[in-house]
Amino acid sequence: MQYAGMIKQSLVDYPGEIVSVLFSRGCNLRCPFCHNPDLLIKPRVVNPPVDIVEVLEFMQQRRGFLDGVVFSGGEPTLHEDLIADIRSIKGLGLLVKLDTNGTNTSMVELLLRERLLDYVAMDIKAPLDYKKYREACERLSPENFFSIRSTALLLKKARTEVEFRTTVVPVLHTPEDIVAIARFIEGAPRYTLQQFNPRVTLEPGYGRVVPYTKTEMQELADLCSPYVQEVRVVNL
Ligand code: SF4
Repeated sequence: MQYAGMIKQSLVDYPGEIVSVLFSRGCNLRCPFCHNPDLLIKPRVVNPPVDIVEVLEFMQQRRGFLDGVVFSGGEPTLHEDLIADIRSIKGLGLLVKLDTNGTNTSMVELLLRERLLDYVAMDIKAPLDYKKYREACERLSPENFFSIRSTALLLKKARTEVEFRTTVVPVLHTPEDIVAIARFIEGAPRYTLQQFNPRVTLEPGYGRVVPYTKTEMQELADLCSPYVQEVRVVNL
């Protein structure tokens, strides 16, 4: 498929590995705090598209230097072609990481079953309560909510590297909300709390929201630590 953009080399998108990152177009959720609105609302304006054929050529040229590819978005699992693209990357002997919002359980299940994913990072936007979740994702349908729950439960049992992560937005998340998420994913290997970035947001009003401080972020991490194996804080 065609991707809206590519980072050719990243040291921060796959723990411990040097990777390329592909950004797919479009998303089925509309989180008001979304930090990638260009991928959602004017995807053709930002970058020339990158075709998977070009990506495969590039990865072959950089064999031995790049460890893998991260499929990010937008929401990559909206695109059926993703499965073939991931098979092609795995065919080169490279690692694959998927960033997902969890709304396509059956695709994640298939990719796991075929052992095509080495690392999955799933966003959890709010406590797993429909009303709460919908505040964080304006277009959330009941079907999507059910899938998000199912994908999270599937990943908790998966035999691949898994990370859950939440962008912590003060107007959406109280400390109790963050703890409720940690309890839902109890036992998970890694939970990442990302400090909200007001510089670029889908909903302009969120540009005025003041993020939690670094100290407050660490306090949230401490509250979560009894429930998950590792809590990581990513500040701006
Ligand atoms: S933050 Fe929300 S709207 Fe933006 S890409 Fe992720 S799931 Fe989609």
